[in-house]
Amino acid sequence: MRKVLVLEDEANIRGFIVINLRRAGYEVVEAESGEEALEKLKAQKDIRVALLDVMLPGIDGFEVCRRLRANDANIGIIMLTARSQEMDKVTGLMTGADDYVTKPFSPAELTARVDALMRRSGGAEPEEKSGELTSPPFTLNLRNRTLEKNGQRVKLTQVEYGLMKLFMENPGKALSREEILDTVWGHDYFGELKIVDVNIRRLRLKIEDNATNPTYITTVWGYGYKWEA
Ligand code: CA
Repeated sequence: MRKVLVLEDEANIRGFIVINLRRAGYEVVEAESGEEALEKLKAQKDIRVALLDVMLPGIDGFEVCRRLRANDANIGIIMLTARSQEMDKVTGLMTGADDYVTKPFSPAELTARVDALMRRSGGAEPEEKSGELTSPPFTLNLRNRTLEKNGQRVKLTQVEYGLMKLFMENPGKALSREEILDTVWGHDYFGELKIVDVNIRRLRLKIEDNATNPTYITTVWGYGYKWEA
């Protein structure tokens, strides 16, 4: 999974960026403050690119960039700057950043920058080539896209595999149906949210001990679903 962190305190702008990156096929981790961003970056080492807004309450984007770069030489860093900021000053402070984008920007421009950095930082699908995700009694093999429960193969469709991967990558996190739809079906799918429920129901029949009383994929009422790790 190609993972990007978006640090932006203004919810509207953050939402706009997040939607567009998800449409472009990225998994997005959101942060509202510099502190939150650093915590998430520390916990999720598979984030390959970070978009950092400069103007934030608390520690600013430059400081986040400095601390992040001190611990990670490989991550791609893009600063989000305001037009009103003097570029000489911005570029001077941008020690460690790889790129910057000036607001307002178009979705296409932003996505192109992230794509470029993702390629450069060698982060294109790093997990896909090797390894597995485990969450007892399940093991998801990422190389041959198969699932085992207690060592027994469970036959999955590609969509079901995508759902399992998303869940197992996000243990304990409530995932909205929109997020699930975007991640698993992709950005060019414009179907109904209902398709998520239909597939979850079918997946539960395959993986739960008792599908009428699910304990692995639980329902978050009025929102979506959660993987109980
Ligand atoms: Ca801001």
